[in-house]
Amino acid sequence: MTTKARVLDFRDHRRELGQNRYVYAVVSRRAQGLSIGLNLNPGRDCSFLCRYCQVERSAPPQAVPVLLDRLGSELEALLGLVGSGKLWQHPPFDTVRDELRRVADIAFAGDGEPSTSPQLAAAVAMVGLARARHRLEGVPLRLLSNGSGFHTPTGRLALARFHALGGELWFKLDAGTPQAYQRINCSTVPLERILDNLMLASRQRPVVVQSLFSELHGQAPTAAEIHAWVQRLLQVVQSGGRVREVQVTTVARAPRDPACRALGRTRLEAIAAQLRGHGLAASVHPGRWGRRPVLVTAGATRNPIDSMRCITANSSGGTGVALAQALQPDHAVHLLASPQAQLRATAAGIESTELFESTDDLMARMERWVRANPRGIVVHAAAVGDYAPRASAGKVSSGKASWELSLGPTPKILDQVRAWGGPDLVLVSFKAAAPDTGDQALVAIAREQAQRTGSDLVFANVLGRLGERVALVTASTHAWYQQRGDALQALIEHTLLDD
Ligand code: SF4
Repeated sequence: MTTKARVLDFRDHRRELGQNRYVYAVVSRRAQGLSIGLNLNPGRDCSFLCRYCQVERSAPPQAVPVLLDRLGSELEALLGLVGSGKLWQHPPFDTVRDELRRVADIAFAGDGEPSTSPQLAAAVAMVGLARARHRLEGVPLRLLSNGSGFHTPTGRLALARFHALGGELWFKLDAGTPQAYQRINCSTVPLERILDNLMLASRQRPVVVQSLFSELHGQAPTAAEIHAWVQRLLQVVQSGGRVREVQVTTVARAPRDPACRALGRTRLEAIAAQLRGHGLAASVHPGRWGRRPVLVTAGATRNPIDSMRCITANSSGGTGVALAQALQPDHAVHLLASPQAQLRATAAGIESTELFESTDDLMARMERWVRANPRGIVVHAAAVGDYAPRASAGKVSSGKASWELSLGPTPKILDQVRAWGGPDLVLVSFKAAAPDTGDQALVAIAREQAQRTGSDLVFANVLGRLGERVALVTASTHAWYQQRGDALQALIEHTLLDD
């Protein structure tokens, strides 16, 4: 049986620490390191029921009190492991990249709303002491909240303690009208209550506002809804509230409501631009959940000589399979694979695969997918045989003194993909240039390929040095990477794939 190697990095959002009830750890992209999480809602009770929520709620939620002693001992054990360095010896943390082996923050987050927990104030005090005991005062303390409990006496006390520790409040505000608020957050708490509590908290210390925008049943928030949300934030600021930054985010992982999908980067940027136009700091955090489908091709074509033999290229399909595996958590990925690549794909857990054989066969399958997905993303990593013999019928007998083959050119698949898909398709192609190609020439060759084929991005390198020195080239830019792995990561994270 093949087991998948597990590397815990920012693409792996599973929470770790075995039997812990309240304290968990994730390696976080945004925090760029280990984020220690404190979950005060193990019963998954929340005052909101956001459509984009990722908390698993198949069982009815329960409001269960927090056992503070247990929370304290779980936190103490984890901070002890971090302090001794032993955490990084235990799976899966032993696979975390060196630069991410740091405590980036300690955050009250988890499976429900912390501000409604009667134990929040005590938990804040406990965490403050533990942070000081382990000499982690420089590590930010964060509270991710929808703010629905800050007006109560216990909520006010928790807020005061949290602010006294220099904590950063990240306050959720996804809508400016009651209708939009109900549609996305599905809460019985009135929007006005949330806004009052945002005012209360932001007058004490600057807050970070987190706002998630998504498509719901294919509908993006209307201009009027965005305008109302902007006005709400401006009212907070004009009334003495302090907003350090507004984080404009979207759906990054599987939400509870499948009709909820990520909003594209361009729209998120436009929303952030409205805030900046009013002097508010805004950052954009794209996600890709439910967005463009992706077709990856991997391996080499096998053009037949007779019924037994073929000519093929020297490609295992490793690059295409690795890309499909990396993109699969965010996109609906379909892999067109050679038989050799198919074996790798099965081991890598690629869910949707289809075999191809000859150049003509690959072309027909690609055309079918692209015509059905004209707003998709094509990552064409397969090595395509550009010459093919005229195949003999049956099997040519062995024992001949010699056998001369005559090869003819095959259709250039890459030159046709753009025409099948149209302007909205995103096309990524690959170029392996001759061994003696210099850097400047490689960029020029890749750019010519981009222009000729309508590729949005070309992954270019030189035969004989395929593991190093890669250029990612667009019509107007290029960037160099010393290692192939870094270039593949840059391709996976490229903004072209966000919209
Ligand atoms: S506030 Fe957070 S935990 Fe509660 S439903 Fe919304 S996303 Fe889920």
